[in-house]
Amino acid sequence: MTTHGDPAARIAELSALIRHHDERYYGQDAPEVSDAEYDELVRELRALEAANPDLASPDSPTQRVGAAALGSTFAPVTHRVPMTSLDNAMDTDELTAWGERVAKGLGAAAAIVATGAALQLDLLREVPSSEPSDQPAAPVVPTARYVCELKIDGLAMSLRYEQGRFVQAATRGDGRVGEDVTANVATIVGLPHRLPPGAPEVVEVRGEVYMSLASFEALNERAAQAGQPRFANPRNAAAGSLRQKDPAVTASRELSFWCYQLGEVVGGPAFETHHETLEFLATLGFPVNPEIRVVDDLDGVYAFCRHWQEHRHDLAYEIDGAVAKVDDLAQREQLGFTSRAPRWAIAYKFPPEERTTLLRDIQVSVGRTGRATPFAVLEPVFVGGSTVGMATLHNQDQVRAKDVRPGDTVVVRKAGDVIPEVVGPVLGLRPEGLPAWEFPVQCPCALKSVLVRAEGEADTRCIEPGCPFQRDQRIIYFASRGAMDIEGLGERTVFQLSDAGLVADPADIYFLTVDQLLQLDGFAQMSAEKLVASIAGSRSRPLPRVLTALGVKGLGPSASESISVAFGTLDAVMAASEADLATTDGVGPTIAASIVRWFAQPVNREMIEKLRLAGVDFGNVVVSRLPQVLAGKAVVVTGSLEGFSRDEAAAAIKGRGGKSPGSVSAKTYAVVIGADPGASKVTKAADLGIPVLDEAGFVALLETGELPQTE
Ligand code: NAD
Repeated sequence: MTTHGDPAARIAELSALIRHHDERYYGQDAPEVSDAEYDELVRELRALEAANPDLASPDSPTQRVGAAALGSTFAPVTHRVPMTSLDNAMDTDELTAWGERVAKGLGAAAAIVATGAALQLDLLREVPSSEPSDQPAAPVVPTARYVCELKIDGLAMSLRYEQGRFVQAATRGDGRVGEDVTANVATIVGLPHRLPPGAPEVVEVRGEVYMSLASFEALNERAAQAGQPRFANPRNAAAGSLRQKDPAVTASRELSFWCYQLGEVVGGPAFETHHETLEFLATLGFPVNPEIRVVDDLDGVYAFCRHWQEHRHDLAYEIDGAVAKVDDLAQREQLGFTSRAPRWAIAYKFPPEERTTLLRDIQVSVGRTGRATPFAVLEPVFVGGSTVGMATLHNQDQVRAKDVRPGDTVVVRKAGDVIPEVVGPVLGLRPEGLPAWEFPVQCPCALKSVLVRAEGEADTRCIEPGCPFQRDQRIIYFASRGAMDIEGLGERTVFQLSDAGLVADPADIYFLTVDQLLQLDGFAQMSAEKLVASIAGSRSRPLPRVLTALGVKGLGPSASESISVAFGTLDAVMAASEADLATTDGVGPTIAASIVRWFAQPVNREMIEKLRLAGVDFGNVVVSRLPQVLAGKAVVVTGSLEGFSRDEAAAAIKGRGGKSPGSVSAKTYAVVIGADPGASKVTKAADLGIPVLDEAGFVALLETGELPQTE
């Protein structure tokens, strides 16, 4: 039965559901739905209550903060100053609406002050005013300045200091009463245990306890090694770590803290603005986030939100949004609070990167090297900006470690440009008796050959060279953009050609005729001619592409480039010894052995001869070689450059013998900083003392390989 037509019933249903999820999330640190799905329920309830005010009850979950810590093992702590939540804006329209509410709130307050002032003036006047009394003066709408902060994805915490000593740490709980977690919070490195002389008699510091991504990954690694379940995300891991009975366990979890607010203060200095309070907290030794900015207007807030939505993954910890707060403390006082949140602040939430969905099945795909990769077949779900219906599960050990089973509700994550990932199952929703997934013993292809996992290897493979899946994937790879780059020969066409028996290896494509293509679905004279022409055009691709296109295990574009430079022709590569290949720049013994093994196989030699017969160029192309001024040096590029795209900058570095890794390490030779750079890369370069260059410095570096002289 659906309750959607009956608001009272739907309100009751939603309230019960939200209470249930609150208990799972706050009480047990084991949510059953993603934050985005939870937020949707709350929004629906809020909308219904707004449309039916008579049905809104004061104890509705929309009026509360968090959840009371019922049955907690930790002692209750009553907050002297309540710990509130934040209202949310999901898009810029909602942010604008908040800005308007702030202006209106301040305008109303200003109007009252202004009217009061006008009355006073009138009383002082000796001569009665000639202005018509029913014409109010134009309201002065005061503008607000805002402090923009990151919305750290952790847990709110209140730290209490009395006479300069750390005496108590309490969770938010329901905003009025939290849990005493002093012993656990005392283990957080970087939190002062004593405040410097002159600190207020009593000071409560509010902020977020969080787990850095590095600590989260290390924790999950240790869990996997101990055969224990992984934590779903850093927030859950931080929450679980704080609830430990043994502080030594909490200490081993490496939690961190950013402070963002004062609670109760007795005997402290007077402040006029929020940013002054943050500066004060920093002087007391508390960690204040370095990305906090004061902006003059809402445009500044938008810019901050936009920047961090794009760069959130440059940070060493997770954020789920940005927070804008009115800076002026007197204005805050005028705006006040609702029952659960301040009116002077708003959380701008980023689009969700995690959702839950049904894992319909786990299937196996077989790649061109025979590797059998399990992948999740999901009930399609919109996450991280696109609809996800499939996600790789990598290998047998990953499936086992995550313990995902067909029929499970799973958490799916898609962060930025990263490929979608199945994080893990929601165990609380697992149907009873759901069997664990077993890796298939047979290749899913028509030959049903056996799948083999060699001792000590993570991958399972189909070792049948005639496997049609491998064959098709080899052809797709051969024609792909990074290899022979044949326009119009994509996955679908390859499957069609293969099903029709027209191609059995990559070389066969060069013998296709227009008439043969016309027999296939979707081909007309023009499109068939076009494909035949683009196949023919690929005959003159340079040797590095031909080498890459062969699909030798481990031989990618960069090693192919080095080998082409060193040997010049395909025949010379075929004749080269393993030792000669292994000493080539960027090749090494594993790839060398793989190349020799590949050319030793008769089927591969036959294919090479077919390619020769088809007229594919085997290396008569002159490879222009730039001076290798960056040989062996790693140059990291961050932010955008005017004269180079990302790929062009990387190619310019590689073309001169250098490397262009995605992260800064002690081995980095230089960091090139463009507009809007990744903050973590810049900080790391500074920490490690790596030379930084602007675009002009980069251009000079490409010419000489030398760093500019510093005094
Ligand atoms: P919230 O997370 O939307 O915002 C308030 C909190 O943000 C504060 O209490 C504080 O802890 C934190 N915060 C981080 N950076 C901050 C900063 N710079 N300044 C101020 N505060 C900052 O609200 P909430 O009340 O803590 O929790 C509600 C949210 O929790 C929901 O929107 C949902 O995402 C999640 N939730 C999920 C489930 C679930 O089942 N998945 C259940 C309950 C709640």
